[in-house]
Amino acid sequence: MIDTLKHQGLRNQLVELLKKKGIKNEQVLEAIRAIPRHLFMDSSFEDHAYQDKAFPIGEGQTISQPYTVAFQTELLQVAPYQKVLEIGTGSGYQASILLYLGVQLYTIERQQKLFKQTQQFLPKLLNRPVQMYFGDGYKGLPQQAPFHRILVTAGAPYVPTDLLSQLAIGGRMVIPVGNDTQIMTLYERVSDKEFHKTEYGDFQFVPMLPERN
Ligand code: SAH
Repeated sequence: MIDTLKHQGLRNQLVELLKKKGIKNEQVLEAIRAIPRHLFMDSSFEDHAYQDKAFPIGEGQTISQPYTVAFQTELLQVAPYQKVLEIGTGSGYQASILLYLGVQLYTIERQQKLFKQTQQFLPKLLNRPVQMYFGDGYKGLPQQAPFHRILVTAGAPYVPTDLLSQLAIGGRMVIPVGNDTQIMTLYERVSDKEFHKTEYGDFQFVPMLPERN
């Protein structure tokens, strides 16, 4: 688990690129600058870790593109101590960005192998508590609800009503919705029954799938 000056230099360049692409939130940029993305990837991809691209992490899944991670995190607007639910733990990279921003994180992964791998790795990397669950993100975590923020990091064919119902009033959910490509969508819970929806353009994610063992 080595982070060198070279890696840090490459991260600075990545941050400059993300700024050019429109990411403005200083704390989000600071988190990208701080978290060593190369440690979340197979060492054979290490040279590519600071390109703005998605890469395979095994089990047919990918670590999201840095721009996508930054965009989703910026849109989520987190503050320290908020309860945040992430769907799709994957490599744990997005989770680390959220932890760096000081939230209380709950994260769900449906692929057992990835779940176990990241469950081992993440606490070693960041000395912050994180609640990791193996299960079906469509169902969320009713026992821990409500959440101030919910972030879905796989392409959802539809918006799961369980997730909407687990959002606190005043809370925000960021979810890419669609099959082949997804529209980044923000849901703000205005009241018990009322949600405000805003769309933010096309993105590409691996699909959100039902629970698997
Ligand atoms: N946040 C991850 C992105 C991983 S890609 C990262 O930073 O690396 C999306 C992840 O969502 C994959 O790991 C996939 O296995 C997981 N996933 C897909 N469907 C899911 C579901 N129904 N519940 C929980 N996780 C799911």
